[in-house]
Amino acid sequence: MVKQAANHPADVPMFPTVQDLADLTDWRRKLHRAPELSGEERRTAEEVRAFLANAAPDRVLCDLGGHGVAFLYDGAAPGPTLMFRAELDGLPIEEISTSEYRSDVPGKGHLCGHDGHMATLAALARGLGRRRPARGRALLLFQPAEENGAGAAAVIADPRFGEIAPDMAFAYHNMPGLPLGRAALAAGPVACASRGLRVVYTGKTAHASTPEFGVSPMAAVARLMPALSALGNAAKLDADFAMATVTHAELGERAFGVAPGRAEWRSTITTSSRIAKTPPKPSSASPRRSTPKAFSMTRACCRCAPPRISAASALSRPPRCFCSAPARTTRRCTTPTTIFLTS
Ligand SMILES: [Zn+2]
Repeated sequence: MVKQAANHPADVPMFPTVQDLADLTDWRRKLHRAPELSGEERRTAEEVRAFLANAAPDRVLCDLGGHGVAFLYDGAAPGPTLMFRAELDGLPIEEISTSEYRSDVPGKGHLCGHDGHMATLAALARGLGRRRPARGRALLLFQPAEENGAGAAAVIADPRFGEIAPDMAFAYHNMPGLPLGRAALAAGPVACASRGLRVVYTGKTAHASTPEFGVSPMAAVARLMPALSALGNAAKLDADFAMATVTHAELGERAFGVAPGRAEWRSTITTSSRIAKTPPKPSSASPRRSTPKAFSMTRACCRCAPPRISAASALSRPPRCFCSAPARTTRRCTTPTTIFLTS
């Protein structure tokens, strides 16, 4: 039912007041001090509900797709439902800062700026609380678990979201380096999609004095990691942009007596296009060719990657883009691509 509350006349300004700005700044800093990771944003969601308790929404939905919170504002006349989205989660990164409002939580930081996104969406909520949309509905979604890609799908799968499904969805991201007070728009996707690739090598350990009795992944790791990184054309930010960043690597044990039998590394694959027409040209030898002859890959499987590990294929099959709608949010893989090594 669309309604126009008599105490929200159209001539009331919805832009933030000086008091709003002071409150929002303090609140953003409070959020910044207490980051929570994807899927664990219970206290942050409580903070959102408490801060906007007086923002007069027509409907509040809690625990959407996890800890998601949504506020609905009905307009005076029928029309489309427009959704605006912020994210609740921080990152598993230690914040190294001298700021007085730096993270109080060891190993966790709001280093993607989602605290700022929440504050700006809260400013919109306060404005809509004073002045409803002229028509249609405004839906303000504080989405959980953006950083691991799970939250958008979970919110969409929530039956209550189906009842309020938006006709259009808008998301935005802070962009450090842009002059204060300036916003940037672009036609088409504006943010790269990313996909996580985890590669596990399983060989055979041996005593360090007799490595010939084992199967070490060392040489394969040493060649495949730089080969994957070299596949992208990250020099130019255009429609064919693709980049593979090795983010983590482990080989063997923290010991001197064992020749390694296992290795694992992770890479984030970032692409600008939703569907690449042609695979990017490798700028060095392909990883399959560069794998030492002494090892053959007997199996490789991954939810996101081709049946046999091929970094070129992984780069040429970019995931869905998350330019605006949560339905297009990136998906990160948690299933390892496993490579079994045989001598
Ligand atoms: Zn972000």
